[in-house]
Amino acid sequence: MDELMPVLFLGHGNPMNALADNAYTRGWAAIGKSIPRPAAILAISAHYYIPFRMVTTSATPPTIHDFSGFPSEPYQIRYPAPGSPDLARRVQELSAPEQVRSDDDWGLDHGTWSVLVHMFPAADIPVVQLSMDENQPPAAHYEIGRRLMPLRKEGVLVIGSGNIVHNLARYRRQDRDAAPFDWAVRFESRVRQCLLEGDHDPLVNYDQLGDDARLAVPTPDHYLPFLYALGMHRKKEPVSFPVQGVDGGSVSMLAVQFG
Ligand code: ZN
Repeated sequence: MDELMPVLFLGHGNPMNALADNAYTRGWAAIGKSIPRPAAILAISAHYYIPFRMVTTSATPPTIHDFSGFPSEPYQIRYPAPGSPDLARRVQELSAPEQVRSDDDWGLDHGTWSVLVHMFPAADIPVVQLSMDENQPPAAHYEIGRRLMPLRKEGVLVIGSGNIVHNLARYRRQDRDAAPFDWAVRFESRVRQCLLEGDHDPLVNYDQLGDDARLAVPTPDHYLPFLYALGMHRKKEPVSFPVQGVDGGSVSMLAVQFG
């Protein structure tokens, strides 16, 4: 394809969004309709954060229900999209010299399917997941994003799925419309400003952004998927925020679209 496929970072939040009809889920559905139909999807999910770099190779990836403490409904959800061993091989090639192992067991976790059920409800586009190696520093995650840039020319939609601000200790589960905490607003604004200025360094080195960053990103798992999408951002390419809002005061649902 001549066109470059856009790249997305999606704030997925609570797994119950998979079943909901709200501003976030309608936003995801609208993105699915507005972009070219992908040949395949590569997802980097907060919930595939393990001590290795792996890529899913199953042709029929299982739907994984990797959460607890929710009512029974989300456990019934299946997202039966096929896998793509070809895309998995391509990811292994492009990531070199870093070694990416094949993972026949993992399938699609809720970081991936809770948004895809809204974006592509027919589940007929092949989906592959790439793990984040928890031993690597933030810059290494950004660098893998850079190496995967050619996928954009090959019709592959890359989605980082996490949350720019994700503090479950402060999350107001019973009051999801609560006003966002000041530190959450400040950190998210800083991220937006850097994005609009094309200033990637502070975003990669987010751990040097002080107290707001420590509260917004208490653990790296939900932030790091954003660095893969950021790594695929071409200079001067437009950046937009197709979904916005803060859930329960401390989980930013911000979506970022590059291109
Ligand atoms: Zn999550």
